[in-house]
Amino acid sequence: MVPGHFGLAAGVKSQVPSAPLWALMLATHWLDVVFVPLFLLGIETITPINPANPNAYGGGVIHAIYTHSLVGALLLSALAGGLAWLRWGRLVGVTIGLVAFSHWLLDLIVHYPDLPILPGNIGNLPLLGFGLWGLPTVAAFVELALVLGGAYLYYRSATALPIEPPLDPARQRRRVYTATGVVTALMLVSFVTTVLGIG
Ligand SMILES: [Zn+2]
Repeated sequence: MVPGHFGLAAGVKSQVPSAPLWALMLATHWLDVVFVPLFLLGIETITPINPANPNAYGGGVIHAIYTHSLVGALLLSALAGGLAWLRWGRLVGVTIGLVAFSHWLLDLIVHYPDLPILPGNIGNLPLLGFGLWGLPTVAAFVELALVLGGAYLYYRSATALPIEPPLDPARQRRRVYTATGVVTALMLVSFVTTVLGIG
């Protein structure tokens, strides 16, 4: 669920304007960013449900047993939040930490039961995941709602910004339309490629 995570980041930007948008976008994917090297090393893996169509939307059981374990996600989110706190202060730090952990919560909704509680699935505790990917149309709709909701909140907060003296209102409006358009277009491209299984 890449586009859904981005949608959430855009929505949070509207609530905490001092948090840089790139940092929020990175934070929503932080767990997946750490997943990539572990995946390349073969430590975390993905098993396609239908081997004939391995890239199908939501068509994988993901064994991200460290990055996507509940405790691992909490630790990685605390790390991201701590770094952001040092750089931008408490409000942005706490926001980044929560946004990073929101990735796990959104994944929990769509993933098949493949999310362990402890890193490495120590103790073989029950695996978590509500499996909404089993209903791809519903899952895609939830993602689209996150994207459009995030884009709307982003647009609304950007238009509410006070006009800065060197900018005339028309130019500022153009900037808002451009920024919203770029962010929304990127999220929609990500949505289409994800749902088509080519992303
Ligand atoms: Zn993930």
